[in-house]
Amino acid sequence: MDSNVKSVKSPQRQKRVKRLKKIIVATFFTLMIGPSILCVIFAIRAAHYKSALKEKTEELNYYMELGSEADFVEEEIPDALMQVASNVETSIKKHENLSSDDIKKLSLSDEELYEGYRKIYLTFDDGPSSNTDAILDILKEYDVKATFFVVRHEGRNFERLYRRIVDEGHSLGMHSCTHVYSDLYSNRDAFMEDTNSLRNFLYLVTGAESDIYRFPGGSTNRASTVDMHEFAGALKDEGIVFFDWNVSSRDATAGGASRQSIIDNVTREIGKHQESIVLFHDLGSKTTTVEALPAIIEYIQSMDDTVMLPITRETDPIQFLSVKEDN
Ligand SMILES: [Zn+2]
Repeated sequence: MDSNVKSVKSPQRQKRVKRLKKIIVATFFTLMIGPSILCVIFAIRAAHYKSALKEKTEELNYYMELGSEADFVEEEIPDALMQVASNVETSIKKHENLSSDDIKKLSLSDEELYEGYRKIYLTFDDGPSSNTDAILDILKEYDVKATFFVVRHEGRNFERLYRRIVDEGHSLGMHSCTHVYSDLYSNRDAFMEDTNSLRNFLYLVTGAESDIYRFPGGSTNRASTVDMHEFAGALKDEGIVFFDWNVSSRDATAGGASRQSIIDNVTREIGKHQESIVLFHDLGSKTTTVEALPAIIEYIQSMDDTVMLPITRETDPIQFLSVKEDN
């Protein structure tokens, strides 16, 4: 019975010894191999950091070399240019405490910047239209900024066009909501209601506040039964400047104008003035205006000391109607 018990216990002990051996071996391997694996991981990481460090050092050396090259170039800058840089620096220091509004006032207008230049203002009335994109494409191609005196058109595509005009750096001027003379020019209140409605509409669509105006038919049109001085005075009270023109492309001639006649009408006249405000129309039917535009721009760009600018409040206004200062 005893021997039986022993013989039963013996394999159990053997099993236990085996298990113990396994644990010892496992512990041994864990203790030995674990750190080895960690060592390998750390070694890889160290190599990685080392290469990153090398890279950064090379980068640093590159910039240090560049810095010494820049110093070298600076020595070669002419004295006059260094003087300009120093003037700018002094000016910045002088204006350091000014508000952004004050700084805006300090920046030069196009008119101040191009003093002594012949100035040409391309203006497009009655848009936006199915031609507006084509006109904007041409202006973009030749890097020219112009002025659009627009009417009010509702709808997503028109709104896109108002925004495109503003986003591409052109001036957005007003030209009445409806262009209907009998409504617009019926009396001062109706005129200002129309103007404010267009102004608010354009502000909501583009975020730009328009402060320039072109009277439909011009400021000395014969369509208004009310004295135009009445409306000119109303605009002035609102701080809006109106602009007529001194060069007409005659692109709205009854019966249509040919591309060549539009080119001739503009190029013949602009040489006569130091400042030209050129009248075009942005109307779907006036396709020859679009066709004539590239040749006109190329002609102007070939003129000496001549610049094309968008109209702003700072532009010398050309006004058919004389407005008394005390009006
Ligand atoms: Zn018009």
